[in-house]
Amino acid sequence: MSEILKVKNLVKTFGGLTAVKNLSFSIKKGLITALIGPNGSGKTTTFNMISGHLRPTSGEIYFENTRIDNLPPYKIARLGIARTFQNLEIFSHLTTLENVLLAINSRLKVFLWETVVRAPSFFHKERLARQKALEYLKMFNLESWAETPAASLPFGLQRYLEIARALATHPTLLLLDEAASGLDAREKDLLKERIIALKQEGITILLVEHDMNLVMDLADEVIVLDMGRKIAQGTPREIQRNPEVIAVYLGE
Ligand code: ADP
Repeated sequence: MSEILKVKNLVKTFGGLTAVKNLSFSIKKGLITALIGPNGSGKTTTFNMISGHLRPTSGEIYFENTRIDNLPPYKIARLGIARTFQNLEIFSHLTTLENVLLAINSRLKVFLWETVVRAPSFFHKERLARQKALEYLKMFNLESWAETPAASLPFGLQRYLEIARALATHPTLLLLDEAASGLDAREKDLLKERIIALKQEGITILLVEHDMNLVMDLADEVIVLDMGRKIAQGTPREIQRNPEVIAVYLGE
């Protein structure tokens, strides 16, 4: 199975603190991989380096054989990596639909001149974009909230909206940072169902997740970090039996 993402000897220091220490791993195309570890083990820092929101102190990141650790987030997004944030980053003053439309329009490249001269191509693209945006909202049962300002959505639905928006950029690799955090049991079930459907569509998924039941149900492969180092990588079953992993979690 081919590798879609490769991380080599990654290091990130913040002043005197080394948050990520010589981390190497790869992610297989088409699978669901979970990055787990106790609080402060470097999961979000690793995500931020993959999406370009943080520059590594040293080391290399390759996406489909292109080196990306020196690229800004928008270029990494254009290559096909989308992400969500632990502390939601939706446009709260825009409607639910507009949030997704924005992501679609960035991909469809609606040119400014088309809007100024009201070119027919603009109206055509706009109609297509709305149709597409509604499809993404439907995936998460959000269509009846289309015209609601995003800030007024219940918390769980704001999490869904962030995923819908990430999907609207057509990623081949989707990074989900604590996507289940704050969701109730029913909302988690839909999330799980959608993630499985995305995998079936061929999207590769990397999750940072605290909810171990979700990880064990969803992940094909698990990578365990502790204090910035990788201490294990394997199937959920292998990880559950790994003495070092058990010690780290019992000590938490
Ligand atoms: P996790 O996501 O596993 O909880 P993080 O990647 O958020 O861990 O953090 C790893 C370590 O790096 C922690 O000790 C955290 O306090 C530290 N850290 C993360 N971001 C910064 C930052 N911007 N400045 C200073 N220290 C940071």
